[in-house]
Parts: sequence; structure tokens; C-alpha cells
Amino acid sequence: MAKRACCILISVALLVVVPHCTMIRQQLGMAVLPTQTEVQLGQELAEQVEQEEPVLPDAYIQNYVDGVFQQLVVHSTRDRPDIVYRVRVLDDPRQVNAFALPGGFIYVYTGLMLLAENEAELAGVLAHELGHVVARHSANRLATQMGVSLLTSIALGEEPGQLAVLASQLIGASTMAAFSREDEREADLYGLRYAAAAGYDPRGLETFFEKLYNLEGGARRGVFEGMLASHPDTRERIELLQRRIEQGGYTAGRLEEERYGQVLARLRQGYGLEE
Ligand SMILES: [Zn+2]
Repeated sequence: MAKRACCILISVALLVVVPHCTMIRQQLGMAVLPTQTEVQLGQELAEQVEQEEPVLPDAYIQNYVDGVFQQLVVHSTRDRPDIVYRVRVLDDPRQVNAFALPGGFIYVYTGLMLLAENEAELAGVLAHELGHVVARHSANRLATQMGVSLLTSIALGEEPGQLAVLASQLIGASTMAAFSREDEREADLYGLRYAAAAGYDPRGLETFFEKLYNLEGGARRGVFEGMLASHPDTRERIELLQRRIEQGGYTAGRLEEERYGQVLARLRQGYGLEE
């Protein structure tokens, strides 16, 4: 047991020394939080999210978003095949947000959908969230917040009942808690890659960030995983995506404006918003 904890600590040191090595980070995630435990924790958290946040009671829109999502999942599954990815739309037009729980549970608020202008933007955001799951960012964040030894004990089954306790501690503060800047950049690049691979315009995530950046005050203050719209990181992230699109030889892809327009009209009608 002591030996195992020691190995994990060495991996943590490696993570600090070689911050760009995704492989090491993924191995660290696996060591700290094995997939089975990650999925169990994700399920606990998902149940709590859905008790506290209403799921949009519109099967047409849920199916539509799942259809977009599944086109991206084909690609994320190649990078991380050991989990089942799932998306749900949460019913709050004031929340411009989306987030990923451990284990592949992804949520998007209707407020984010109302801000997006086309399917490529929604796809970019969903693909970004898939990137967090593929790169196991939650495990790294949990290790920092909760401590490696507690997570290891839970994974080894030494702390029965602790998983539920951990989930309830996390739910208040952390579903929207910020990942590190590096995690966000990494998820952005996954997002770009998956959205483009699914045939979407690679600029979707970038143009969505532009909208977020330009939001000013009011009820729909821009938040994306807790990040304020005017945060300087948003500008940096836009520039990184632009550079990567230029250098990566991406070609134009689908925007699906018309199809998205129909979904938007339905959403707006449901909320009694003006066209
Ligand atoms: Zn993110």
C-alpha cells in the first residue's frame, strides 16, 4: 500500500516537470482514479446534478443534442474507449454553461444553446467537454482537492461509503469549478479536433468564445465552467484556436445553421422569448 502511494507521488512529480505530456497525465489520472471508480463517482454526481438542476423536458431537443454529440463521440471513443459518454440538456436559459463530470457525463444548459448561432458552435463546446473526459482532467483535479491517499483508499475499496460522501462534498462547489488553464487549452484542442473530424466547421468553438467574450453584464453574464466572459484567458484561448486552425490545415466544414435555427426557434418559443 505504501509502495503504491509512493508510485503515484512520483507520477505527480513527473506531471509538474513535464506539463505537456498528455500520456503521463492520462496515466496519472488512471493511477489516481481507476475508470471504474471514476464512472461510479460520475454516476453519483450525475444523480445529484439532476436532483438539483432540472433536465429539459423536451425529448426532441434532448435527441437533437444527443445526435450532435454522438457524431463527436465516435472520435473521442478512439482516444478513450473505456467509458460510455452521455449528454443531457439542463433547463436554465440564464446559464451560459456546459460541464463534464468524471466518467463521461456531460451537461449543457439551454442558456448556452440560446447563445450559440449554429450547430458547429454547439459541437465545438460539446467536443471541448469530451476533451476533459478523454484527458481525465477530473482525476487530476480531484487528486489536488481531495488528496491522493483518500482517492486511492476509495479505489481500493478501503473506505466503503466514501464515494457518496466525496460526491456530496464535490457537488456544491466543483461541477463548475475551474480546471487549470492548461487543462482548458488541452480540452480546446481536443474540441477542435473532434468537431473537425465530425465534419463541422473547425471555427465553431472559436466563434462561440467570441460571443462569450463580447457578452456584457445583464442576466446572461457569460460563464463557461465558471469563467467570466471578459476573462483574459478567453482572448488567449481564441488566439490559440486561430493559430491551430491556420497551422493545422483544417478545411471548412458544416455549420448547420438552418437546422440549428429550427431548434433555437423551438427553445425560444418554449421560453416565450421574442424571435
Ligand atoms: Zn473546459
